[in-house]
Amino acid sequence: MTTSSPLAAAPEGVGVLTFGSPATPATLIDGAALAAAERAAVAADAASFLFRHGRRPGLATVLAGEDAASRVYVASKHRACEEAGVESFRHELSADASRAEVLGLIDDLNADPAVDGILCQLPVPRHLDGADIAARVAPGKDVDGLSPASAGALALGLPGLRPCTPLGVMRLLESTGRRLRGLNATVVGASDLVGKPVGQLLLQAGATVTQCHIDTRDVAGACRTADVLIVAAGVPGLVRGDWIKPGAIVIDVGINRLASGLVGDVAFHEATEVAGWITPVPGGVGPMTIAMLLQNTLQAAWGLT
Ligand code: NAD
Repeated sequence: MTTSSPLAAAPEGVGVLTFGSPATPATLIDGAALAAAERAAVAADAASFLFRHGRRPGLATVLAGEDAASRVYVASKHRACEEAGVESFRHELSADASRAEVLGLIDDLNADPAVDGILCQLPVPRHLDGADIAARVAPGKDVDGLSPASAGALALGLPGLRPCTPLGVMRLLESTGRRLRGLNATVVGASDLVGKPVGQLLLQAGATVTQCHIDTRDVAGACRTADVLIVAAGVPGLVRGDWIKPGAIVIDVGINRLASGLVGDVAFHEATEVAGWITPVPGGVGPMTIAMLLQNTLQAAWGLT
């Protein structure tokens, strides 16, 4: 591990940029390249699994309703499975599918030996409850890491499958080579899907974590203390350049579809002038989420949960 990091190793005030000092543009963290490497590793692992077990590892997706973005996400997950040598089983239910119908399908998939991982694409239609459906997935097949059993295991630091986007965030942080122990980390967003599990993973990595949400009074102030800033609020351009501590690592989880295209939750051009490292949108966290889903599927297939 390098010790030349201004974040991890420099004595106070030495080599660390202060506010208002000229900054060099941030290093871009290339999530697409990192994800491609992770997927290649999964493909090799899937080939070993096939050799050992005489079948490919299997991922089942459950999509209820007609949400256009969800269809695109599910299609890209199936494409990624195919490329990595993972069998994928696609289950589509109508928008008015009953709770009993969805839970019945999950029970069948829980019992199916060809299915190692089960992913229920969120959001579900209004009359259904995503948390209720996630709770039905067997912990050993919970590749989304959203069941109460998986969330509890994460909170207690016990073995288990972790949610894919937070895992991807941690892998992106790791790629900077910076040691997280002792750093100040701020997470903007506290959802069960992203914000909370990211906060817990950072805590377990030894960071001092501040978790912001919609009722936080001074989000900008909390961001300015962050050596590591994770933004998952779903608000385009929420985090401005002058919210960022010079030299910080900034991971932008947000995906917002505007008329101008996809943008994140961080004002990217301002942020690159101040941050030390930053992820782009698209091409940052998004590709890592799918790579981590494949990795979780392999972990479930080998029974390493
Ligand atoms: P969510 O709506 O469930 O949660 C948003 C969180 O942000 C909440 O805790 C809310 O309190 C907080 N928040 C909202 N506005 C805020 C504000 N102004 N200041 C401080 N906190 C605020 O969303 P989510 O599912 O956690 O997703 C967040 C973003 O990440 C969305 O843009 C989503 O599309 C994106 N996302 C990306 C990936 C990926 O693979 N890149 C995966 C999941 C989610």
